[in-house]
Amino acid sequence: MPSRALTLTLAGLFFLILAAISIADPRWIPILFPLYGFIFLWMGLRQERELPFVFLFLVSVSTLLSASRLKSPWNHQIFFELGALWFFQFSWGVYQNSILGSRRDREVRVNALNLKISEEKKDLEYYQNYREKALSQIQSAQNLTASAKSLANTLSAAEVHDRLISILSSRFPAAQVEIVASPGQDPLLNFAQARNGPTLIRDAWADKRFHDLLSLYRSGLAIPIKVMRQSAGFLKITSKDPDVLGTEEVKAAELFVAMAAMSLENIRFYEQVQAQSVRDPLTQLYSHRAFQTQLQEELLRSGRSQTPLSLIMMDIDHFKSYNDRYGHPAGDALLKTVSAILNSFARPVDYAARYGGEEFCLILPNFARAEAVEIADRLRLRVSSQPFFFQGEKSSVTISIGVASFPQDATTASQIIRVADERLYQAKHGGRNQVVG
Ligand code: GH3
Ligand code: MG
Ligand code: MG
Repeated sequence: MPSRALTLTLAGLFFLILAAISIADPRWIPILFPLYGFIFLWMGLRQERELPFVFLFLVSVSTLLSASRLKSPWNHQIFFELGALWFFQFSWGVYQNSILGSRRDREVRVNALNLKISEEKKDLEYYQNYREKALSQIQSAQNLTASAKSLANTLSAAEVHDRLISILSSRFPAAQVEIVASPGQDPLLNFAQARNGPTLIRDAWADKRFHDLLSLYRSGLAIPIKVMRQSAGFLKITSKDPDVLGTEEVKAAELFVAMAAMSLENIRFYEQVQAQSVRDPLTQLYSHRAFQTQLQEELLRSGRSQTPLSLIMMDIDHFKSYNDRYGHPAGDALLKTVSAILNSFARPVDYAARYGGEEFCLILPNFARAEAVEIADRLRLRVSSQPFFFQGEKSSVTISIGVASFPQDATTASQIIRVADERLYQAKHGGRNQVVG
């Protein structure tokens, strides 16, 4: 039985018994009253708020009805007890209300706190998510930096390719990553070449142009690799499954290709600088430094093999006045032409170098002085017969040459250079356009 119905039934029963007794014999009323008090106390303890008042009303009515039949001083006591019961019930009600009020206050405060807690929980969740996202962003930035470093920290193009492939393979494990030198028959690579940019096939089934590829792969991405504005192959990422690559993947792949291209460009620059220290950039002949090293090596070899070696040192006559008359660029063009002529006189074993400004050297292993002088003279004639056109004017240049040989004139590099230089000086003083050997 529910607790409220129990309270009601018991209280009602008890009241009916008491009321019946008090109606049967009103003299019992003062004695019964404390028992009424117990009923109210019990109902109060059972958290009843309205019920006691209903009973109080019934008690009051039944008491007044019973008491009206008494004509004795008991009446005063009855009225007093009835008043006390009302007072008790009223005080009890006030007390309960105050408890209820404070309980409500507490509930309101607890609710407010609960609300605050749930809001704080939401905030906490948001910050935790944010933190996780930030951490994963930091992690991917760190990965990116590490990958960029690994791409940049190499001086070999093959290694850049390998690292690019390994970075992208680990990023796209479901796909195959390769670097292809030329587009060949692959329609994807041909498209990328024609577009001059990344080309993505999400699903070859859905695109007639790529049906030929279906036996090879279903989705793919091709990115042209450009180094110094020239094609340096293609990055190709393919998969047997459709939709393996999307816009995000294209962006990531493009970024890594750009980093690899930068690294390849650095490698090219480095190689060029290296080559330039061996070659003179204007004439493409060997540089002064390379010439010195080579001369020493050749002399050592000639010494060991007991074979002769000759050095031709030549200087363009009155070159300053060409420069002054026709300008520096015209002078450069002349230097290039004379260098080409000199180079055409060099056998594979010979070594033609730009010694300085408009001075050139030719190392001739196995040639004794007489043969070298002969070659030098042919060279002089060849240069003097070369027509030069400056600003529509036909002109020509002459050269003076000094020849020195090992072992006749010198045994070391510095000696042979000094002797050749002295003879060149003699040729200049002798009237230029001549060979002294
Ligand atoms: P000589 O017959 O006595 O050799 O007279 P020259 O005028 O040829 O000799 P000089 O040493 O007085 O002048 C050499 C000139 O060569 C001076 C310099 O400006 C020029 N020259 C040196 N290097 C270059 C170059 O790379 N390009 C050009 N255009 N001129 C150069
Ligand atoms: Mg000169
Ligand atoms: Mg000179």
